Amino acid sequence: MSDAQQSWNEEDERAILDSIEHWVEKEVRPIARKFDQADEYPHELVEQMKELGLFGATIGQEWGGLGLSARTYAKIVTKVASAWMAPSGIFNSHLIMASAIERFGTEAQKAEFLPRMATGEFRGGIGLTEPNAGTDLQAIRTVATRDGDHYVVNGAKTWITNSLNGHGILLLVKTDPAANPRHKGMSLLIAEKTEGFVVANKMKKLGYKAIDTCELVFDNYRVSADRLIGGVEGKGFAQVAGGLELGRINVAARGCGIAVGALELALRYAQERQSFGKPIAEHQAIQLKLAEMATQVEAARLLIEQAAGKFDRGERCDLEAAMAKFAGSEAGVFCANEAMRIFGGYSYSTEYEIERYYRDAMLMCIGEGTNEVLRTIIAKQLIARHPI
Ligand SMILES: Cc1cc2nc3c(=O)[nH]c(=O)nc-3n(C[C@H](O)[C@H](O)[C@H](O)COP(=O)(O)OP(=O)(O)OC[C@H]3O[C@@H](n4cnc5c(N)ncnc54)[C@H](O)[C@@H]3O)c2cc1C
Repeated sequence: MSDAQQSWNEEDERAILDSIEHWVEKEVRPIARKFDQADEYPHELVEQMKELGLFGATIGQEWGGLGLSARTYAKIVTKVASAWMAPSGIFNSHLIMASAIERFGTEAQKAEFLPRMATGEFRGGIGLTEPNAGTDLQAIRTVATRDGDHYVVNGAKTWITNSLNGHGILLLVKTDPAANPRHKGMSLLIAEKTEGFVVANKMKKLGYKAIDTCELVFDNYRVSADRLIGGVEGKGFAQVAGGLELGRINVAARGCGIAVGALELALRYAQERQSFGKPIAEHQAIQLKLAEMATQVEAARLLIEQAAGKFDRGERCDLEAAMAKFAGSEAGVFCANEAMRIFGGYSYSTEYEIERYYRDAMLMCIGEGTNEVLRTIIAKQLIARHPI
């Protein structure tokens, strides 16, 4: 996968997906339960991801990335998440940071960071959420004050994935806390881990284990002013919003992957487990579950394909990406829940895999816009597109 190419055709795409499938089955699936239960960071997988080029999957080839389409990338993410969702976060959050630099960064920022991000030498994440502000990002309180050719940052972030094992984050700050409207005072900084960038606490989570999600404190953290994305203050909120379409397609793919994995496990178990002298798959109550799960998986796949296709053609896809994210994440929760019921009492055993899917699934309904907010976005778009 590391040979530079100008563009990928269907055959290339198949070869890439084959190599990912091979890696997932050989390296990811076999270690998932152990690392999840130990809440241990999978360092070896990170090295393998570097070899596969995953850290540069969507970064342009001119910067050393693979320059994959959103469609191909979504299929990769779905495959990884179908075995174990958590490792997909290691390159997903990283690529959201890379995408912001590639789309909105200065030429110097692109040249300095993108080649190192493409190889995985520099691995990042996104630092938006604060203890008092998640959905309402404009309420953040982290402030960056200009001091000569630096900014001095003070504040706190929470739930920041990749912040312990990564090398830096895309940091959303207020450069003008008094701005009205609030978003005009917001900016994005490339924040490398140097003095004053404190990883305060690795959070204990229900699921999405093994991957580091931390609370961060910025205590007079000095960052060079040339780390301001795009070099102009006040654009940070719009830059975050500009990455949401791709971000939502990614989360949709992760949710869909959980749904695929739960369905696969349930299909197998339903044919193995016997009750009343026959496999439980022959009971109509179980068949109804399998049918609904499979239908939700295919619906999510098609919505992801539609949104990613539009994204790749450069078309606006905010409505489609929101629908895909809503459908993909809800399919993950639905299929994990139904699979738990199919496994009966064994669903509660940590000797089986299904309980991990159940613990991991809900997160996809929360990240990149909660599904409550997404439904209001879908409705507003519908009304705007169909006025009377
Ligand atoms: C495991 C994990 C990893 C994460 N990783 C990252 C990361 O790497 N970087 C990062 O920046 N963040 C990360 N997050 C944070 C995540 O993005 C936020 O949790 C999410 O945006 C929701 O914010 P909140 O938790 O503050 O909920 P709130 O915004 O407080 O929402 C609480 C409830 O109110 C509802 N609500 C709020 N406002 C509205 C509205 N206007 N209309 C309708 N309903 C509304 C929400 O839907 C939700 O049901 C992570 C979270 C988790 C759990």
